[in-house]
Amino acid sequence: MRWSERQIAMLREIGVRLWVQPEQATASAAPVAVADEPVAPPSRVAATASAASPVSALDWPALRDAVVACTACKLCESRRQTVFGVGNTRAHWMIVGEAPGEQEDRLGEPFVGKSGQLLDNMLRAVALTRGEADPAHQVYIANTLKCRPPGNRNPLPDELAKCEGFLIRQVQLVQPKIILAMGAFAVQSLLRSTEPVGKLRGRVHRYQGVPLIVTYHPAYLLRNLVDKAKAWDDLCLAVETLQQAGR
Ligand code: URA
Repeated sequence: MRWSERQIAMLREIGVRLWVQPEQATASAAPVAVADEPVAPPSRVAATASAASPVSALDWPALRDAVVACTACKLCESRRQTVFGVGNTRAHWMIVGEAPGEQEDRLGEPFVGKSGQLLDNMLRAVALTRGEADPAHQVYIANTLKCRPPGNRNPLPDELAKCEGFLIRQVQLVQPKIILAMGAFAVQSLLRSTEPVGKLRGRVHRYQGVPLIVTYHPAYLLRNLVDKAKAWDDLCLAVETLQQAGR
């Protein structure tokens, strides 16, 4: 595979080093992407705010309040706080992760730990940030679960089901032009699929009419460095999908 200068710079940004295979080390040789040095690993019942005001009718402040007040599953007993979402509420890109971890539970913002650093680097590589200025270059980040599962265990089906309405409403309010579903639980929640991420990535899915790209979760990438190159391909596919849609 041949990389342009810009792509090489971007690959470096997400921690993928490039080297030229010795047998190809000629003027025309193409650099090969390799993983960086190992980094320490670090039913469907929609959520309801109240009988009078279903989640699907809530605006941003009311939705946030509903999440803060939610006691629909047992996670409310162990959480420090809920983790709602972050970014431009009109962002063209929406990133959906899994669930808050220890640091997110402490700080109240998604993806602030090691996974978050990798996510930010990946986003920066395609000129995206989680800030709040220009919707075209910004993302809105949300999780399938708004509360931390104790000990960072996997989300349970019942928890995903009870929290789903909040995510559905976040997507409706943001109206993103592209969704990046990161990891198995985002895929389960959004696509209703238990197929492995590896089987679903590489093509364009749809969620609420919005193009959706499946990719690996950053925490997985921190443990499986060789797949960073595939995550890069997924990001490129998302960029191309947006460009082709002329948005
Ligand atoms: N992993 C996630 O999926 N979400 C977070 O907010 C943090 C880690």
